[in-house]
Amino acid sequence: MATTLGLVSDEFNTDLEQSEQLLDDVDRVLRALDGGNYGQCVACGEPIEAGRLSADPFVTTCVAHPQLSEQPAQ
Ligand SMILES: [Zn+2]
Repeated sequence: MATTLGLVSDEFNTDLEQSEQLLDDVDRVLRALDGGNYGQCVACGEPIEAGRLSADPFVTTCVAHPQLSEQPAQ
């Protein structure tokens, strides 16, 4: 019983963390739109490829700098 509750709790926490991550991403995109630099690579400032943005609207780097857009390891 306690084990089952623990699993449910872990799952809930994971969902919560993912939701917070999503909110962070949305907030970042909104600020970029506000500042007029949405769709620019944070590493080189070049426009991010349209196909890359449509695949992941929250991507922050062009294809040349994919390692910089990865989330830090937990
Ligand atoms: Zn770049």
